[in-house]
Amino acid sequence: MDIQTKIDFLIERVQKQTPNADVDKIRMAYECANAAHAGQKRKNGDPYIIHPVSVAGIIVEMGLDTDSICAGLLHDCMEDTDFQYDQIAEKFGKSVADLVDGVTRLGQLHYSKEQEQMEDLRKMLIAMAKDIRVILIKLADRLHNMRTIQFMTVEKQRSKSLETMEIYAPIAHRLGMQKVKWELEDLSLQRLDPIGYKEIVDGLERQRSEHEEMLERIKKTIGTKLNESGIKNSISARVKHIYSIYRKMYEQNKSIDEIYDICAVRVIVDSVADCYNVLGYVHDLYKPIPGRFKDYISTPKPNGYRSLHTTVIGRSGVPFEVQIRTEEMHKMAEYGVAAHWKYKQHVEKNGSEETYAWIRQLLESQQDTEAEDFIKNIKVDLFSDEVFVFTPRGDVVNLPAGATPIDFAYGIHSAVGNRMTGCKINSKIAPIDYTLQNGDIVEILTSKETHGPKRDWLNMIKTSEARNKIKQWFKKECREENIEQGRTDLDRELRSSLLYNHFMERPEVQANVLKKFGYPSLEELYAAIGYGGITVTKVLNKVRDEVVRARKQEENRQPLTQNRVQGRSESGVIVEDIGNCKVKFARCCTPVPGDDIIGYITRGYGVSVHRKDCVNVKHSSPEDRERWVKVCWDENHIETKERFNTALQISTNDRMGVMNDVLQTLTNNHINVKDFNGKTLSEGYGIINIVIEVTGLSQLDALKKKLRSLRGVINVVRQSM
Ligand code: MN
Repeated sequence: MDIQTKIDFLIERVQKQTPNADVDKIRMAYECANAAHAGQKRKNGDPYIIHPVSVAGIIVEMGLDTDSICAGLLHDCMEDTDFQYDQIAEKFGKSVADLVDGVTRLGQLHYSKEQEQMEDLRKMLIAMAKDIRVILIKLADRLHNMRTIQFMTVEKQRSKSLETMEIYAPIAHRLGMQKVKWELEDLSLQRLDPIGYKEIVDGLERQRSEHEEMLERIKKTIGTKLNESGIKNSISARVKHIYSIYRKMYEQNKSIDEIYDICAVRVIVDSVADCYNVLGYVHDLYKPIPGRFKDYISTPKPNGYRSLHTTVIGRSGVPFEVQIRTEEMHKMAEYGVAAHWKYKQHVEKNGSEETYAWIRQLLESQQDTEAEDFIKNIKVDLFSDEVFVFTPRGDVVNLPAGATPIDFAYGIHSAVGNRMTGCKINSKIAPIDYTLQNGDIVEILTSKETHGPKRDWLNMIKTSEARNKIKQWFKKECREENIEQGRTDLDRELRSSLLYNHFMERPEVQANVLKKFGYPSLEELYAAIGYGGITVTKVLNKVRDEVVRARKQEENRQPLTQNRVQGRSESGVIVEDIGNCKVKFARCCTPVPGDDIIGYITRGYGVSVHRKDCVNVKHSSPEDRERWVKVCWDENHIETKERFNTALQISTNDRMGVMNDVLQTLTNNHINVKDFNGKTLSEGYGIINIVIEVTGLSQLDALKKKLRSLRGVINVVRQSM
């Protein structure tokens, strides 16, 4: 058929099918496409225009409107020729230009071979096409390309077939376009498993006369019965499509000869009531196979498919499937959403019309639209809360709708976000607050150095991931506050550990600590503590180590025999015969000035100071006796404002508010609380453990007295930590 005949034939079909179609516009679209593609050839040597005309033919068959047919004719112009959007819009209107643009954009997607990305790709494809007609045109395009795929290289044939099987056939299915789906599947299978395909074709060919005979007989039997009963009907019989047989063989591990259920009969009637009547007659004539009856009329498939299905056993013992539906259901089954569009365009709205759940959802906001614009205005917002974009490597990234390149960057890694300086969308520089569109290829531009986010980025993002990462950055970057916080924290801990003076006044201690953690200055250390980069405890331990080391060095220089009891003690405790040596306060009994104390020469830390009544002193082993030394409080020291940690245990009857009263008492007495921990005992009593700072025993005793006087407090005792 030459091209002129082909286009005449096309127009003829349009006129027959859609009397109000704009035939002149279609003819003009053909002329433009023909001119634009002039000189181009297809792989098989045909003039290129054969392809768009064939695609338009499929679109006519689907029953789409004039604009879709025009777009079908022009669909490859933007990509391959100089005939661009503006010219198309000028000649054929914005609607046609948008359709062509949409199809072109879908064609530019590159598909990852990753299985897990396929569903995302399908979703994206549907979401990308703002107008569902774009997808229908794309399906027609793909269908014709698959029909003529033999002219491509074997490699290309396989990859296109895989893509068709994984993406386009499922989309056709989703849109309820069974006829397109079946053909796409069979054409793909033919390339993906030529041997398996041929096995089925040959097998069917072998059994063809058998099948034909059987189907004729069944048609006659059912037809006669229905005619007798006065039910208007049209019966068609067929062998199921190849891929469905292939799948059965594969799933059930059977050969073609073992698959019986390959014939199907379709009965089309006028009303839903008749569908159920026919089912009754069929079950009268043939024995149904239990469990194979499916009522997709009362419960349509998610894609809108409606029909009654049953499998029965024929006279020869061979099972076959019977599908029963109305004409409208049939159109929907064959052409899915396209048929629905056609149906709405030509049939008056009637009350009993059953719409399809998912289409209804799509149309929620457009219920009042004129029938004419019904599908034309469908925004395919199945996935309106998501947006699908690509990395430059072609991986699909799924983000919430409204997401920006900043979200994308932080989605990859916080380091990418923090170094982001700009972005490219589809290879063009774009603002970083650009709203990502489906199918965009997003490239983040970064600098070597970390600049960090800007405050206003928090207003540009959609994902909580980006929000958290940006906040984290600012937490780190609030330097002044962090330094102040770090200084306060460290000073407090140093003071309570009696290390403050050592740290501040011994340059070698400070230097070693900074060096150990790699901070160039004290300020940096404070900042790190402030944002949580290093814990105070860690610093404190190091300070303690360094202080010990420094003292050891001093002691080595000054023999221990020297009586230094007269000397000033740093710790507040004088060790007999040693004087100002390294001292720590035992955590078990937390002595404070005023307590009777005793020292224990530790391995490696100098002297550990205990209360004389500490259990550890009483239970000390005989061989340790040598190590106990006399110590006393340095009176000079006690007069200073140095504070000492000690622990108290308060037993209470579990009165509400007793904890509050305890805390209040501590506050009123200007006691610094280091730890506060309350628990209820099962007997209705409570225990409060506190660690506090006091100057000495007299303050502690006074406090204990005040606490004991509180209502609900039973006893207050010194406690080990
Ligand atoms: Mn094409």
